[in-house]
Amino acid sequence: MAAGRPSAPGEPLNTPLVPASNFILGEERAYARDDGTPTWEALEALVGGLEDGKAVAFASGMAAVAAVFDQLPVGAVVVLPDDCYQGVVGLALAGAEKKRWSVRRLALEDTEGWVRACGEADLIWLESPSNPLLTVVDLAAIGQAPRKPGAILAVDNTFATPLNQQPLALGATVSVQSATKFIGGHSDLLGGVATTRDEALWQALRKSRELSGATPGTLEAFLAVRGARTLALRLQKAQENAQVLAERLEQHPRVARVRYPGLPSHPTHATARRVLKGFGSIISFELHGGAAEADAVCRRVRLIRHATSLGAVESTMERRAAIPGQEHLPPSLLRLSVGIEDVEDLWADLEAALQ
Ligand SMILES: *Cc1c(COP(=O)(O)O)cnc(C)c1O
Repeated sequence: MAAGRPSAPGEPLNTPLVPASNFILGEERAYARDDGTPTWEALEALVGGLEDGKAVAFASGMAAVAAVFDQLPVGAVVVLPDDCYQGVVGLALAGAEKKRWSVRRLALEDTEGWVRACGEADLIWLESPSNPLLTVVDLAAIGQAPRKPGAILAVDNTFATPLNQQPLALGATVSVQSATKFIGGHSDLLGGVATTRDEALWQALRKSRELSGATPGTLEAFLAVRGARTLALRLQKAQENAQVLAERLEQHPRVARVRYPGLPSHPTHATARRVLKGFGSIISFELHGGAAEADAVCRRVRLIRHATSLGAVESTMERRAAIPGQEHLPPSLLRLSVGIEDVEDLWADLEAALQ
């Protein structure tokens, strides 16, 4: 893919690191926080190309999320999924406490409820597949629902990546992702991107970045571009691995339940088949027993790292209910972000840890 690459003869193939805050006056670009840098723009061109919209790069996924919430008028109505990234929930509830907006929660499977919400709310926030229950929403239906004038339908596309789901093509106003995860793919940067086809919203998101100062780091943007070049290969391998592991985990006597959109047993498998191009590389599974058994498995894995976060080349696993604010989850639920290691090595590691 050529997006984000220089094109003139004699230029480097890759947009170089341009660690500039300031530019000689007379050109369009004067100051990085206001006007961007060539390195940020390479990331924006690349992700914008994948999402088929115009992108704004941010310092983190949460900075991109906050810029979307920043668009809301005082008193706005926000509808959030029941299963949703904890940072987004935290941001939304903090704003509600300050009376900036009100928040309603809705089950992700409730397509009719979401369709109705589109006519009533100012910000309809979807996440699909969701974290950590991996519920897939019928974005094809919700994206077509009539919306209140000025309403924003936002989709957190972090788990799907633009390769498995293109929210803008399905009718979303803005697609948000944490570039920290699959786009970067190597657990070595924080970044976020918001992409839209609405020129006024694109301008407003840029303005929000300018005024909040939530600008991406130069090295981070460079690494995110470099990471994204292999996204297709990484995702393909990781989701092939995930399908194999999910099927084997489902047969394992110590495993009580596996949630993976690629399994026919997943509650939203049929929707996933319709809406997603691939089932992703995150698996959540519960053990017979409780927190202690799950913690022991986390301590015993060797190749799989006991770590939070997801979407990287290396597999990581953690017990989600151990995270503050996630106590509502099943106590033994383990979220496994499958990497690109050899699948038999991963299975051997899991099997040994489950003994
Ligand atoms: C990690 C994550 C975010 C936040 O991104 P940061 O880069 O950590 O700020 C938002 N949504 C989802 C689904 C995530 O996994």
